[in-house]
Amino acid sequence: MIYFDNDETIMTTKDSTYNVELIREDFPALQERIYGNTPLVYLDNAATTQKPKTVLDAMNHAYIHRNANIHRGVHYLSREATTAHESARHYVADFIGADRPEEIIFTRGTTEAMNLLAATFCPKYMKEGDEVILTTMEHHSNIVPWQMQRDRLGIRLVEVPISDAGELDMDAYRKAFNSHTKLVSVCHASNVLGTVNPIKEMISIAHEHDVPVCVDGAQTVAHRRIDVREMDADFFAFSGHKVYGPTGIGVLYGKRRWLEEIPPYQGGGEMIEHVTFEHTEYNELPYKFEAGTPDFIGSVGLMAALKYVEGVGFDAIATHERDLLDYATERLLEFPSARIFGTAPEKEAVISFLIGHIHPYDLGMLIDRMGVALRTGHHCAQPLMDRYGVEGTLRVSFGLYNTREEVDTFIEVLRKVTPMLM
Ligand code: PMP
Repeated sequence: MIYFDNDETIMTTKDSTYNVELIREDFPALQERIYGNTPLVYLDNAATTQKPKTVLDAMNHAYIHRNANIHRGVHYLSREATTAHESARHYVADFIGADRPEEIIFTRGTTEAMNLLAATFCPKYMKEGDEVILTTMEHHSNIVPWQMQRDRLGIRLVEVPISDAGELDMDAYRKAFNSHTKLVSVCHASNVLGTVNPIKEMISIAHEHDVPVCVDGAQTVAHRRIDVREMDADFFAFSGHKVYGPTGIGVLYGKRRWLEEIPPYQGGGEMIEHVTFEHTEYNELPYKFEAGTPDFIGSVGLMAALKYVEGVGFDAIATHERDLLDYATERLLEFPSARIFGTAPEKEAVISFLIGHIHPYDLGMLIDRMGVALRTGHHCAQPLMDRYGVEGTLRVSFGLYNTREEVDTFIEVLRKVTPMLM
C-alpha cells in the first residue's frame, strides 16, 4: 500500500482506505516468530517502533551509494551524502512546521536534545534561585538534565502536580510562574499515562510571563501532526526511533532567536568557523550544535520514516490508534481487579495497568513467554510512580500497524496467566 521511490522523495498511498494488513507487510519485524514458533504481538511502541522496509532500504541505499563524510569533502560521494543529509533536515523542518531548516539540530535522540538544552540554556540565562517548571509526569530525560544544572548553578525545579486521572493541574501551573521562572519544560504526552497535555494553552500562559517552553515530543511525533509554529513552541525534541525511524538520531528544534543566542554544547570538528590555540569562532546554525561527524545515514532513514508516516496520514493513524485504545481499554476492564493509570480523555494509545496485587514483572515475564511484547517497570518516570504509590506498572502501547486481533490475543494471554499468579 505504501510505496517509496528510493532515490527521489515520493511516497504515497495507493489506496485511500486504512488497510492495516497491507501496512503490516511493510514491517518485516512483524512477521517474526519468537520462542520457537510463536507469532510476535508487538505492543511496546512507546519504547521503540519497528521499521518499515522503506527505512531499511533508504539506509542500505545510502551506505552503498552515498557513504562519505559530509560537508568537508569536494568529491562526488561527499557532495551526494551532504545533499541527502541536508535534504533530511529540510524535510524534518517541513514535517514539524519549522520556519527554517537551520532551526533543526540533529541529536542522538530526545535525551541528548534535553541535555543539550539544559547544559546551554541554564548557564546562559539562569542564576541561583531561578526556576524551571516541570511536571510530575516527566520522563527522567526531562528531569535529570535539569537536576544536573540545579546542582551546578543552584537553580530550582518546580513540579506541577497531576490529578488522579493523570491530567495536569492547570491552576497549579498558572500559579507556578513568578519573576524567577526562566523556562518551562514539559512532555507533550506522557509515556506512562498517555495524557496529551494542553500544550498550546500551556505555551500561551508561559509566553504571557515571557517564559520560553521546551516540549518533549517523544510520545506525540508518531501519532499526531506536529506544528511547532502553530503551538508556538520555543524548543521541541523528538527521537527518530519512536517514529518508525532509526535509533541514534533525533531532533532538537529551536526558534532561531534562541539558538543564535545560546552557546554551543559540545566542541569539535564541524561546529567551528575558525580555530587557533588562543580562540575559536563558532560555526553558524545549525552546525554550531553539531560537533563531529553527524549520523548522516540516520538522517536519511529518519526522512524515509517521516515520509512513510505522512504517506499513511495522521488522520488515518489517529483514528486507527484511537480505536485500538478504546477497544483495549474496554477489554482490559473485563478484569475486575484491573487498575488503569491515566484516564484523561485526550490520550495517546498507551495503557499502563496493574492486575490486582500481581507484581508487574512476574506478569510481564509470563506474558512475554506467550509472544506478547509489552513493557514492565517504572518506565523512566519514577516520580510519577511515586505519585501513584506503585513501584511499576505494565504498559501496552500501540502503533499504526497494531490490530484488534492483537488486542484479543493480549487479553487471552492475560486471562491465561493471571490465575497462575493470583
Ligand atoms: N521523553 C519521553 C516522554 C519518552 O517517552 C522517552 C523515551 N521513552 C524519552 C523522552 C527519551 O527518548 P530517547 O530514549 O529516545 O532519548
